[in-house]
Amino acid sequence: ALPLEYHELDASKLTYSLTDRSRDVPPLGVSDINGETICTDHMITAAWSAKGGWEAPELKPYGPLALMPTASVLHYATECFEGLKAYRGFDGKLRLFRPDCNCARMLMSSVRISLPSFPPEELEKLILALMAIDGAKWLPRDRPGSFIYLRPTMIGTQSALGVQAPSKALLYIIASYMPSMDAPNGGLRLHTSPDDMVRAWVGGFGYAKVGANYGPSLLATQEARSRGFGQILWLYGEKGLCTEAGASNFFVVWKTPEGKMQMVTAPLDDRLILDGVTRRSVLSLAREHLGDEVEIVERKYTIDEVVQADADGRLLESFAAGTAYFVCPISLIHHRGRDVRISMGKAGEGGPITLKLKGLLKDIMYGNMDHAWGVVV
Ligand code: PMP
Repeated sequence: ALPLEYHELDASKLTYSLTDRSRDVPPLGVSDINGETICTDHMITAAWSAKGGWEAPELKPYGPLALMPTASVLHYATECFEGLKAYRGFDGKLRLFRPDCNCARMLMSSVRISLPSFPPEELEKLILALMAIDGAKWLPRDRPGSFIYLRPTMIGTQSALGVQAPSKALLYIIASYMPSMDAPNGGLRLHTSPDDMVRAWVGGFGYAKVGANYGPSLLATQEARSRGFGQILWLYGEKGLCTEAGASNFFVVWKTPEGKMQMVTAPLDDRLILDGVTRRSVLSLAREHLGDEVEIVERKYTIDEVVQADADGRLLESFAAGTAYFVCPISLIHHRGRDVRISMGKAGEGGPITLKLKGLLKDIMYGNMDHAWGVVV
């Protein structure tokens, strides 16, 4: 039971102190200054303590946080985050895409890393409140088809070196620019993970969006990047199960040896992969729009099956799906000295199934299609 004086996170208590040093919106396509991400004028913070619960959230000028060097997050990675975008539609409206999914996932992640819980709908209201203040200026109406990236984050802030669940935490929401990564020229090139590294394991926390999943993956990614690859295709176990591609879910389209068209992606069981909002949406749209031609399958499958499909001429398309990379065609997978080359379709922009799903999602995100997943700010 919670203590009597415990306060729940309550978006209706949000206080506003607006900046008097409003900054310039960067030109389209610019997302950083000297490697530093550009954020909008404001952020929202909410402090939590085990004794009193959540304080009233505050909207205030974007700026540094104050933390003691002993803060829990700096030592024990008591951190989780989310990533979603706000889109300026072709109809002039500002939309979020399925923010309820991100807020529910943030709650799951925070509980996994011993940070406080909260009503996910209150987080969603706070995200909308930040966009209501910063959206109009930072996603101007004359830039339809553009987006900004929202990053709700929670950190353990208790200043104590004891290894324990933090008794203080801070939730914050920032809005930033990021480059469009959905169409690297010539498609995304993947390198399978090194034999001696795994991203996630059964019983681990690969399914949670905690910072602790990301730092340790950078070594392999950096090495692969230096050799001209974009992301790691993380394999798992002795059989080499395909799991995720960098910070995206991974899909292949192939013909089965029996000649049936299939779209395959790793399942959520064993909790090895993130339950991506894009993955979920792609699966659901594919079942709705392509279900007659293509069998949509969530199952365990190995890199050897992908290599074999390629050798047999059955491998048709592959793509990565995630908020940052959107639906991104994959042109090559390098595995143990071998290059699997995948068709990028007639126009070189992705196969027909990849493009169909990307188009449907884009229509929802940018308001060309009315859909419950597009939440207007
Ligand atoms: N897998 C991982 C490991 C990720 O970090 C992400 C990005 N959140 C995804 C998949 C894709 O998830 P989403 O579609 O919700 O962005």
